[in-house]
Amino acid sequence: MINNNSKTILDVRGLCANIDSTKILKGIDITVKSGEIHAIMGLNGSGKSTFAKVLAGHSAYEVTAGSVQLNEQDLLTLSPEERALAGIFLAFQYPIEIPGVANSQFLRLAYNTVQTQRGKEELDPLEFDDFVREKMKLLDMNPDFLDRSVNEGFSGGEKKRNEILQMALLEPQLSILDETDSGLDIDALKIVANGVNQITNKDNATIIVTHYQRLLDYIVPDYVHVMQAGRIVKTGGKELAHELETRGYDWISSDNTANAGATV
Ligand code: ADP
Ligand code: MG
Repeated sequence: MINNNSKTILDVRGLCANIDSTKILKGIDITVKSGEIHAIMGLNGSGKSTFAKVLAGHSAYEVTAGSVQLNEQDLLTLSPEERALAGIFLAFQYPIEIPGVANSQFLRLAYNTVQTQRGKEELDPLEFDDFVREKMKLLDMNPDFLDRSVNEGFSGGEKKRNEILQMALLEPQLSILDETDSGLDIDALKIVANGVNQITNKDNATIIVTHYQRLLDYIVPDYVHVMQAGRIVKTGGKELAHELETRGYDWISSDNTANAGATV
């Protein structure tokens, strides 16, 4: 929801990034304010996941130009851990499995680290157990998942739910969901969307990276951006997602070429 007392949470200017000296991001500008949900759409290979990973501080990417501020703090100088503590949360397109580490242990460690950073009390295993079970109800998750190794043998949908559970526990300032809808059937999609909608409030913000419009039927974005070849080439309201659904992406490339021609 767009509100009048909003403050800028994320401000990205002219962001360029390489992987193995291949230029992937070629000048991204985006401003995200508190209370807002932004969708980033685009064909496979357009740079969406790269953008998400660069924000989270993935070490494989080299930022070559531009700036990123989170709550007026320079994000690019921070390590991935510091970015997480500063309030960035990235739900991965392909969540990793961590054999041998119980999900409950992992979640409690992550939760307590953030609590300490915020000057709040840590929870002991029993207190945490009550707390996490409440959050799991939001996502219609079976408590048995607490005793299993992190994501090990989870189905695609279960992994995605586990990601949203982390998000619900950590209460990030800025959540970035990368293709959270992929691999979900319609019931799981609704549960995940419902979880995200319950977590979203006027003080935080969400960026949803998605290929398809269908998630946006359940999580309604304030802004939709189209990424193409490492740039945001079009921004609109939620209706833009519907337009992409019916018209595809080609008309945008031709618009973009026309614009590029006009400015030469
Ligand atoms: P999207 O998430 O929009 O599908 P990605 O950000 O995953 O796109 O990829 C953007 C581009 O970067 C693609 O052309 C992809 O092939 C390229 N790319 C991603 N990872 C690597 C890598 N490790 N080495 C070289 N190119 C890469
Ligand atoms: Mg991707």
